[in-house]
Amino acid sequence: MTTTANVKAATPNQCDEPSTDMEAFKKILGSSKNIICIAGAGLSAPSGIPIFRGSEGALWRKYDMFKLSTKAGFLDSPSRVWQFEHYRRELVFKAKPNAAHDALAKFTIPYFRERVSPGSTFTLITQNVDELSRKALESVKSSLPPDSLGEGLSDPEHPPLIEMHGSLFDLECTAYECKHRETNYDSPLCPALAGTELIYEVGSKEPEPDIPKKNLPRCSKCGSLQRPGMVWFGEVPYRVDEVLKLTENADLILVVGTSSVVHPAAKLAGIVKAAGGKVAVFNIDRSKRDEQADFLFLGSADVILPEALSMKHV
Ligand SMILES: [Zn+2]
Repeated sequence: MTTTANVKAATPNQCDEPSTDMEAFKKILGSSKNIICIAGAGLSAPSGIPIFRGSEGALWRKYDMFKLSTKAGFLDSPSRVWQFEHYRRELVFKAKPNAAHDALAKFTIPYFRERVSPGSTFTLITQNVDELSRKALESVKSSLPPDSLGEGLSDPEHPPLIEMHGSLFDLECTAYECKHRETNYDSPLCPALAGTELIYEVGSKEPEPDIPKKNLPRCSKCGSLQRPGMVWFGEVPYRVDEVLKLTENADLILVVGTSSVVHPAAKLAGIVKAAGGKVAVFNIDRSKRDEQADFLFLGSADVILPEALSMKHV
């Protein structure tokens, strides 16, 4: 993919290439009224969270991560999927929001956004399940006097944050008649998972523990086996109708840390574009069909976003 991108960059087509003019982007940002951001793994990568989604064929231990994030993978081996989720949870416990989370969180709050983009609305839609955007938002909010938050954050039409794939810390009962959901921040999640996060390298000689179902996370209401409560591949994301409505009304979409080719970013960007809005992509690398974007800024999200949103020194 890098080779293709280099070839394209070497033979630019004026009509097809997105703009990399930061000042021109800031003008658009300043005049947009309904702004949304769709964020993916590249937003959390600078926090040390490896990119799992969108990297088809990537392995954890010797297993395809894609399959570990499916219902079929769970049915095949709840022990393995729970060890994978436990490994990810333990990583996230150690992670902190980075400057990109912080910049988006500030941009969410009218107190900061009004200077940059007066009279606008903003919703951050994240595919990440690490809760780092939520943490960043809570942290920025708590640093401000309550009367400076304004009413913008409580507007039900424009929620500050939508975690469309849920959270690594949500659990759901697998018993059809129960389906109880709960949030759990225990580390380890249960005694049988303790230490299994250390066996992660591809080709590791250490035998994989086969944890019996009775020792995996169990529902606090009915005692049945729990599954990770986040959205797996093939499942319907949360708040889809809300996301679509926000997208249909958006005149600017920021695509951050995700390929603009894959769903849902591709679809949402397409909707905004078709309605005459602008698409700005912020990613570490080029991806196919980037040329459909109006703006393209390459680099690590924690470096480019604070600058692009003018949240660097606030
Ligand atoms: Zn239950």
